[in-house]
Order: sequence, then structure tokens, then C-alpha cells
Amino acid sequence: MQKAEIIAIGSELLTPDKIDTNSLWFTQKLNEIGIEVIMKAVVGDDIELLKQAINSALKRSDVIILTGGLGPTEDDVTRQAVAEALGRKLIFNEEVARQIKEKFARMNRQMPEINKRQAFVVEGAVILENPNGTAVGMFIELNEKSLAVLPGPPRENQPMFEKDVLPRLGDSASGVVFRRRLLRVSGMGESAVDEAIAPIYSKYENIRTSILFNRSEIEIHLTAKAKSQQEADEALEKLASEITEKLGIAVFALNGETMEEVVGRLLKERRKTLAVAESCTGGLIGARLTDIAGASEYFLLGVTAYANEAKIKMLDVPSELIKRHGAVSAEVAEAMASGVRKKAGSDYGISVTGIAGPSGGTKEKPVGLVFIGYSDETETKSFKVILPGDRYLIRWRASQAALDYLRRKILHKEKI
Ligand code: ATP
Repeated sequence: MQKAEIIAIGSELLTPDKIDTNSLWFTQKLNEIGIEVIMKAVVGDDIELLKQAINSALKRSDVIILTGGLGPTEDDVTRQAVAEALGRKLIFNEEVARQIKEKFARMNRQMPEINKRQAFVVEGAVILENPNGTAVGMFIELNEKSLAVLPGPPRENQPMFEKDVLPRLGDSASGVVFRRRLLRVSGMGESAVDEAIAPIYSKYENIRTSILFNRSEIEIHLTAKAKSQQEADEALEKLASEITEKLGIAVFALNGETMEEVVGRLLKERRKTLAVAESCTGGLIGARLTDIAGASEYFLLGVTAYANEAKIKMLDVPSELIKRHGAVSAEVAEAMASGVRKKAGSDYGISVTGIAGPSGGTKEKPVGLVFIGYSDETETKSFKVILPGDRYLIRWRASQAALDYLRRKILHKEKI
């Protein structure tokens, strides 16, 4: 099996403000054509260190992917470092210079003199066009090894990788393909999931299954290894459907979708609408739902009613109810859900009221106590959960529980 190495270049990637996400994407793509990533590095804008990184990668790996540092400024050192590490010249390419000038002209701007630097390419490199930016990429072959030099921004390097790098690597790859699938499960613990599905996945020798807990859900990662994409996909499909049959409604995503995507899709497919009343989640549910493009088709209203007065005024929660049961109660959750549904004129209303902490808990109503309300035309219900975690996690988990409650209700199975 061929081995690959990814080098992400840029001093900002060594600060707490910026993460190297490029390498994750490249790893997935390389794995899919049977190339294993054995090492990743992040190097600042330092030509000497970068040369060292390239030289040592060449000793170990068959494929080396470099991203970033192809800009026009002094601290963009990738071109120079690659040329020096390989002992090749940097050659000014008239055609690339002309294309860069043209790109500026299209934006009604004149090319700044420094952008000429981007027209230098490593001797012998295949030039990879960049329709989304000014920096061209390069593909260099040397002694059975390949080196791809790509710009940093994902919107520039991903199309370039798909179009011009992958096909060049595919030729020499080992003929083993990896495909991945991610299932998500709600309302069950990690060990319960494993106990239920271990007898199933252990039968599949060519699929690696790993079960992870992630904030508010269980993720089942499946990685299949096969001779072709089709063979791998078929095996994944078979295992995924066996798992779903076993776990039932608890499986909410078959292809890595988020809870808000799933709920959005369910509403859209049924042409139903939703309104949300939030107290301790402070708008998180609304924010999650509206993260999805096209949410306006089903999301009508989100009310963050934090104060008791707001619950009364904005959602028509009877003040009596709050006095008698407290704002964190089943009764108030239900009144919030039906109140917001009526205000919006939507098919569904959901609500959250709870104690996110760290303060505000009592013996009867501890931190993490959350009531989730649900209302449709025929019924209004609620349920209580006690969620573990800090303020951030309690809020996140409450938003997840509310969305999941709605999902289960829509699917007409009240198994909570
Ligand atoms: P261009 O000249 O087209 O901008 P470049 O090769 O000079 O390309 P950089 O200046 O290194 O690219 O990076 C530009 C931006 O790309 C960064 O500010 C960052 O937002 C993004 N980026 C760079 N490297 C990575 C990485 N490894 N993972 C995710 N994003 C990255």
C-alpha cells in the first residue's frame, strides 16, 4: 500500500486561532483510493524547517501533499522551499503570469507587482490551474514519488485535488479502496450500543467499526476496505441496514447528518412547520435549525423567553402556572410549546426550560434538570431529563433532546 504524508504550511496554523483542517479532507480522499496517510506535519513560514520537512517526508512516503504558503508575499515560502529541497530551479512562467494578470483585470484591478512571484514554478512541475484564486498548484514526479503543492484555502485546493491530483495518483495506487460511513444514534449510551451491535459488526471482517461518544450522541464509524468503491459501498450499506434494524428509531442519521439536518428534512418532506420557545438554551435550537440552508421553508418562529415575564407576555404562559409550578416545570414547558405554536401558526411547537447552572440549582430542582415541551394540533406533552455536564454541555444536550423528541414524534413512535 502506498504511503502519504501531508504538510500544512502557515504560521497561523501554529496559533490557537487556526486549525489545519485541510489534512483531514485530504486524508479521506487519499484513503478512498487506498493510500494510507502515515504522517502529518504543520510547519510555520520558515523556509529551512519546511525544506527539512519535505526532505524527511521524501525518505518515508510515496505521496507528499503540501498546502499553503503559495501567496505573493515574502512569508509565502513554499515555492522556494520545494525548489531548494529538490535541487531544482524556480522558473518564471509567462503563461501563468498572463493568467494572473487576467484574473486581476477581470476584477477591474491591476496586478500588484508582488503577485509576479506567483508566476514562478518549480522546474519540471505540471502546473495545476486554480479557477478560484491566483496561486497555481504544482504536481511533481520524482523517482516513483509524487509531490503535490497546493494553495491553502479549501475552496481552492479541493477542486484542484479532485480534478488534477487524484487522477494522477490513482494510476499508481494499490487497488485497495477505503470507504467510510457514519451513523448517529440518540438516546442510548455507548456500551448499550456496542452490546447491541457487536454481534453484527464483528461478522464483517473488512469493515472496521468504532463507536464514539460525541457531546449528545453516539457515533458509529464504519470504514470498509475493498477492491472497488462499489464493493466497499455495498458492504457498508449491508452493515448499516443491519445496525439500523437492530437499533431502530434510535439511529437518526445514516450518512453523518446532524440532528438539525434530519429534523429539517423530516419537516420539509412532510411540508410541516415548526416554532420553538427556548429558555435555558437561549436560542441554540433556533440557531442550529437556521444553520441549514432552506430552513425558512419550515422554521417559522423562535422565541427566547428567558424571564418569567417574557414567557407570560410573548408565549401566553399563564402566570398562575409559573407561580404554582415554577418556570422549570412540565406545565410551563407544555404551555411554552403550545403558546409558541399558536403564536406562529405552525404545525409543531417545541420548548425547553431548565437549569443550565452552574448556579441556580436546588435539591428539588438540580442543575441539569430540563423539561422539554412538545405541541401539535392534537396533543401537548413534555418530558423531564436530568442532563450531566457543564453549562455548555447541558444547553447543547437540551437542544438535542428537544430536536430528537420532535423527530421521534414526527415518526410516530413515542419510545422516550
Ligand atoms: P492563496 O495565495 O491562494 O491565498 P496560499 O497558498 O498562500 O494561497 P495561505 O496564505 O497559506 O494560502 O492560506 C490562506 C488561507 O487558507 C488561510 O488564511 C486559511 O484560511 C486557509 N488555510 C491555509 N492552510 C489551511 C489548512 N491547513 N487547513 C485549513 N485552512 C487552511
